[in-house]
Amino acid sequence: MNKYDLHTHTKCSDGSLPVTELIDLAIERGITHLAITDHDTVKAHLQLAANNKFYKDDEINIIKGIELSSQWNNMGIHIVGLNIDVNSTAIETAVAHQTQLRLQRVKTIAKKLTQRGFPDITQGATKLAGDSQIGRPHIAQYMVEEGMVLNVGQAFNKYLGAGKVGDVSNIWPDLEKVVEWINAAGGIAVLAHPSRYKMTRTKRRRLMADFADAGGQAIEVCAGNQVPGVAEEMAALCSEFDFHASVGSDFHNPNYKWVKLGQYPKLPISCRPVWELF
Ligand code: AMP
Ligand code: MN
Ligand code: MN
Ligand code: MN
Repeated sequence: MNKYDLHTHTKCSDGSLPVTELIDLAIERGITHLAITDHDTVKAHLQLAANNKFYKDDEINIIKGIELSSQWNNMGIHIVGLNIDVNSTAIETAVAHQTQLRLQRVKTIAKKLTQRGFPDITQGATKLAGDSQIGRPHIAQYMVEEGMVLNVGQAFNKYLGAGKVGDVSNIWPDLEKVVEWINAAGGIAVLAHPSRYKMTRTKRRRLMADFADAGGQAIEVCAGNQVPGVAEEMAALCSEFDFHASVGSDFHNPNYKWVKLGQYPKLPISCRPVWELF
């Protein structure tokens, strides 16, 4: 029986595990198809290739992926690219662009937080990120270590989460551009965790329509830590907009109790799975 997890992170972005440890854990969990989809980087895939780490089909199938940050109506929207050519010009362009934006964004967020009385964010977060693609979780971690907040959750709730002072989403390329990069890299564009964006039903349907128009082919119907009923709601949107359905835990860290690798709600039977397109 095939078991899919099509949305996961490694230490190359804001996950905690090195890529080979993520894969070992996936094998242990009986996952047969694993997409590694770090934020705005494909370094994990390049590392596997550089170290000649290839897996036999009966061990595990590694699907080359990425999670790209975009903006739509001033809101940060994540698009997962599956089955991309990680060596394509489109992906190289996208990664270089996003990396620059992420480095700039830390400084912008740091400046805003300095005004709130929190100094040295850029230096602290950059050091914590090391070689990883830097993100808000590194800022949050630094704030926790410096006693600026009690925990990562509080850092997001008060300062970094959607709509807060440190949420700088208007720097990202438009949704259309990001979908174009993925398609140019031969990949399938998947709207990540659609239920996690805070918006009205009407607005969510507009997002779906724009995503379909841009060339998006699938949405995540089943994501990690998803409340009951959402999968059915997303399945209905798949029918309406003719999307395929993806499934993925959005795994980051084995210590996070609320999201386990390979864990997400059951895919409604009405859905056409995205792997039909692989
Ligand atoms: P970024 O990619 O830098 O914009 O940061 C977004 C990432 O922060 C997400 O992919 C999650 O891993 C993490 N994140 C978002 N919201 C929260 C939250 N409330 N608590 C902890 N981590 C979060
Ligand atoms: Mn993340
Ligand atoms: Mn995401
Ligand atoms: Mn993710």
